[in-house]
Amino acid sequence: MAKNFDVIVIGGGPGGYVAAIRAAQLGLSTACIDEWKNDKGGPAPGGTCTNVGCIPSKALLQSSEHYEHAGHAFAEHGIEVKGLKMNVGQMVARKDTVVKQNNDGILYLFKKNKVTFFHGRGAFVKADADGYEISVTGAANETLKGKHIIVATGSNPRALPNVPFDEKLVLSNTGALDIDAVPKKLGVIGAGVIGLEMGSVWRRLGAEVTILEALPAFLGAVDEQIAKEAHKLFTKQGLAIELGVKIGEIKTGKDVTVNYTDATGKEHKAQFDKLIVSIGRVPNTIGLNPEAVGLKLDERGFVVVDGDCKASLPNVWAVGDVVRGPMLAHKAEEEGVAVAERIAGQHGHVNFNTIPWVIYTSPEIAWVGKTEQQLKAEGVAYKAGSFPFLANGRARALGDTNGMVKMLADAKTDEILGVHIIGPVASELIAEAVVAMEFRASSEDIARICHAHPSLSEATKEAALAVDKRALNF
Ligand SMILES: Cc1cc2nc3c(=O)[nH]c(=O)nc-3n(C[C@H](O)[C@H](O)[C@H](O)COP(=O)(O)OP(=O)(O)OC[C@H]3O[C@@H](n4cnc5c(N)ncnc54)[C@H](O)[C@@H]3O)c2cc1C
Repeated sequence: MAKNFDVIVIGGGPGGYVAAIRAAQLGLSTACIDEWKNDKGGPAPGGTCTNVGCIPSKALLQSSEHYEHAGHAFAEHGIEVKGLKMNVGQMVARKDTVVKQNNDGILYLFKKNKVTFFHGRGAFVKADADGYEISVTGAANETLKGKHIIVATGSNPRALPNVPFDEKLVLSNTGALDIDAVPKKLGVIGAGVIGLEMGSVWRRLGAEVTILEALPAFLGAVDEQIAKEAHKLFTKQGLAIELGVKIGEIKTGKDVTVNYTDATGKEHKAQFDKLIVSIGRVPNTIGLNPEAVGLKLDERGFVVVDGDCKASLPNVWAVGDVVRGPMLAHKAEEEGVAVAERIAGQHGHVNFNTIPWVIYTSPEIAWVGKTEQQLKAEGVAYKAGSFPFLANGRARALGDTNGMVKMLADAKTDEILGVHIIGPVASELIAEAVVAMEFRASSEDIARICHAHPSLSEATKEAALAVDKRALNF
């Protein structure tokens, strides 16, 4: 006999587990199926984000930043460190503990909110007048019946053609987060968010890191002025970034050899101890059996949805990395909540214009809204203001003065159209800009709001003042 639910969520990443919890909170009987296993074979909900993405990468970034500070920044504060050593095993073990705390936290939230969790793979079996039959296979073996189905099966790393991930020499994000000793020479293919974050971790710990990027522009989606500043700072830190390359043959043996042609057409043969391939991610519907019910996928494998995350079948929804839009955990969560609310008859809402982006390098890069190049391309008349952290008292006290805040506002109405930050804790500072844009604030609104002194957020206020050339210039 099938177990009946109002809502069955397939996938327990940030899109799925948040959708399941919200649906249960709204009084719907809810199941969540997730197949991720920890090293003991037990459940590890949280998806890519918790297990091999956002959380472990930030744990390693923090550990490696501490190490770099101890080696380079402490001396300026009068702190002498002798015999500094990196215990990579301990760093990775700490990261695993942080991951487990998050897995356990999600299981606790399922229990607290009365979400029934099934550890295994969920697949469509058939549809009938009462809803959808879903099979669970794995640790749990069950047949479920759901009136509504939310597909939240996420994404997988994209491999280079004919170069499969072996997670020993050729690493996806999974292997990159589990390297057990600092490689002497690390190659990274792809200068996107993941490549830059992972490259930074191992560069800080002493690896010689070369990042090879096919596109001619560095961080093409980022505001050009910010991307230029980032390129300058990362290069100064010792990341060798080559743009406009064409990757040729890759051979593995004792190490990895990458043949590539540089932007000038010169051929190179680079040897690396390990190679991280971070060239994007592909939607994951492996094992979901969408054909059984006729669920439509597009030519790239994404589940086809409308603006409300409704899929091609009645009462089937899809959220997160498996659908169009940015592959970000908080975008997946927003969609998950909105879908649960729509199922419950409420008016869930996601504002794609105010989704923040963050790259957790040092300095961090964060932005929301339009870049200057986008506004130019769209023919929007705008005003720009920026303020460097070099002139911010708190940044000086922290000893972290690289970067700036840049604000773009409509030339006529002064409405904020974009905010771009490169600098210390940009990931936290961007929240003010997101709130401002969500409330359609003007640059003058930010300029007239009292900001604590001394704080990094004063740089945002100063950038707002600079939009109208009213800067106080503390
Ligand atoms: C190294 C790295 C760092 C990242 N850092 C950030 C960051 O700092 N900030 C940010 O916003 N984003 C970051 N991301 C992206 C983020 O992880 C994803 O956008 C997010 O996890 C997507 O959530 P999701 O719920 O759609 O899918 P996922 O997190 O991929 O979860 C999908 C889940 O569904 C399960 N599943 C799949 N198919 C089935 C099935 N048939 N049955 C049962 N279970 C199934 C999977 O096992 C998985 O647990 C990072 C990604 C990587 C790789």
